[in-house]
Amino acid sequence: MTDSFLFKGQRQRLVQELQTKGITHSGVLQAIGTVQRHMFFNDSILQSHAYDDKAFPIDAGQTISQPYTVAFQTQLLNIQSKDKVLEIGTGSGYQAAVLYALGARVYSIERQKQLYFKTKQLLKKMNIFVETFLGDGYKGLPQFAPFDKIIITAAAPFIPRPLLDQLTIGGIMVVPIGEGIQQKMLKIKKLSDNEFEQSEHGTFSFVPMLGGIAE
Ligand code: SAH
Repeated sequence: MTDSFLFKGQRQRLVQELQTKGITHSGVLQAIGTVQRHMFFNDSILQSHAYDDKAFPIDAGQTISQPYTVAFQTQLLNIQSKDKVLEIGTGSGYQAAVLYALGARVYSIERQKQLYFKTKQLLKKMNIFVETFLGDGYKGLPQFAPFDKIIITAAAPFIPRPLLDQLTIGGIMVVPIGEGIQQKMLKIKKLSDNEFEQSEHGTFSFVPMLGGIAE
């Protein structure tokens, strides 16, 4: 499925909707207006809703995040071109594609084997050059650290210490924290090896961050 005037129009409407909901970062809005979200759906009925501001089911009981949530987390990260970014929870690949559209160098980890292989292939087909890894996001990617930005796209019960260690001084991590249906969105800035500045940015609803790798 290629792009179409219909999808282009729907994307522009989505951008306007996100603006009315409070997204102001021009780069983020531009990225949402560029990335073909319909390509991340395999079901043609769901695909016709690709530019609704909603989360949808993907494989392995997981979800493609709501565009507002993707835009909100990305805005908090304040991505600069060439930033080295670690994403936990590749899922459909949509969030990774938005980060890539902003000029970031993206490393993304997924724990579900089936999703990992499928998304890796899709991103390659779309010429979206993101480094994908099958692994446990709680451990991060020490071999590629440090990262300027880290984004967790699943609900974390606590802040994983290895990820804080893999952040550059001055780096930012954005993570939804909580074990219930809703989580608090936290932005954490690393001031020094042991000093962090934390702020809260509303409540969101994510699938849980789980440990280990799943077949
Ligand atoms: N960023 C994704 C959102 C996917 S939902 C998108 O844009 O579509 C969250 C994803 O996190 C799921 O695919 C889930 O399998 C994955 N996940 C959960 N715990 C994880 C962990 N410990 N390490 C890596 N991925 C994890």
